Amino acid sequence: MPTRDYYEVLGVSRGATESDIKRAYRQLARKYHPDVAEDKASAGERFKEINEAYEVLSDVHKREQYDRFGTVGNGAGGSGFGGFGDFGPFAGEGFGEIFDMFFGGGRSQGRGRGGVQRGSDLRYDLEITLEEAYSGVDREISYSHLGQCSTCEGSGCAPGTKPQPCVQCGGSGQLRQVRSTPLGQFVTTAPCTRCGGEGRIIPSPCAVCHGRGRMEIERRITVHIPAGVDDGSRIRVAGSGEAGVHGGQPGDLYVYLSVSEHELFRRDGLDLALPVPVTFPQAALGGDVTIPTLSGEPAVLHVPAGTQTATIFRVRGKGMPSVRGGGFGDLLVHVNVVVPRRLTKRQREILEEFARAGGDQVEEDKTFFDRVKDAFGVE
Ligand SMILES: [Zn+2]
Ligand SMILES: [Zn+2]
Repeated sequence: MPTRDYYEVLGVSRGATESDIKRAYRQLARKYHPDVAEDKASAGERFKEINEAYEVLSDVHKREQYDRFGTVGNGAGGSGFGGFGDFGPFAGEGFGEIFDMFFGGGRSQGRGRGGVQRGSDLRYDLEITLEEAYSGVDREISYSHLGQCSTCEGSGCAPGTKPQPCVQCGGSGQLRQVRSTPLGQFVTTAPCTRCGGEGRIIPSPCAVCHGRGRMEIERRITVHIPAGVDDGSRIRVAGSGEAGVHGGQPGDLYVYLSVSEHELFRRDGLDLALPVPVTFPQAALGGDVTIPTLSGEPAVLHVPAGTQTATIFRVRGKGMPSVRGGGFGDLLVHVNVVVPRRLTKRQREILEEFARAGGDQVEEDKTFFDRVKDAFGVE
């Protein structure tokens, strides 16, 4: 036997709170209690119905199940359509009810009771420097978004007024149509034409947001960017997206980070690469070279005598911090031995002296010239 909508029975909206439901139940129970009612026969029927509705709507789990499936099964558990076994408790309900249940009565498709809807998530693109990625930074950002109207606090109602349940759909936002066919009863539902599917009517809309409950608002927040973030990292700021509709949760803001290119350092995971020019004497004789690091503290790299160009030295712990904690990467110093483009007279004299002393012998590459000799047979 199809039962009447429980919300309708108690005369409350789908968004009614526990205390709304309790209050409505008490009033109705006082009126229809068989001991006090005048027409005892019909009051008894009505009283049973009221009790049944209250039993379901006052129980959080039963109410949730009822909202989802339009009915409450005995022991079905309300855990969704786990297979045809779930039809068991409803076997006696007739085809129409099952059809309705299977398609969820068209409800909760992104909207909950009374048009409640979670706000949209938002994306914000933010560029930071490599230094900021290294040390972490708090950045203030501002953006325009659909926020809660401060005049009506999101209700959409003019101050001092309240939304009213829609009388056409009984607050469900849906109109049910039962069609009898040779196959059985088909129940179709469509959004209510009077309230547009919201289940409620705003009698006097808020003048600021025109009843929408939300409006374009400039928002300014501080985003904490932890040390170690990388290009493409995403930071979620819970609740900073668009405001929900009719009391729904706000969405989240996602800050997408891009790290700008650095003049000196290149990043590779946790490691940093740094090209460092050294003079020929530094490379040949060895020496200490002061190198910059992202921490701001310069480090000293010891270049051993006889260092070749393109040699890579690893300075441990001077790379990027791990965003999850747990240490730092390394700094990879790429040594570049620079040949002077111009020489002073004195430098030229010394270099010529150096050459005469046998310094123009390319010792490391002797094998190269050996191979040339072998290949061309020249002495
Ligand atoms: Zn408003
Ligand atoms: Zn309606």
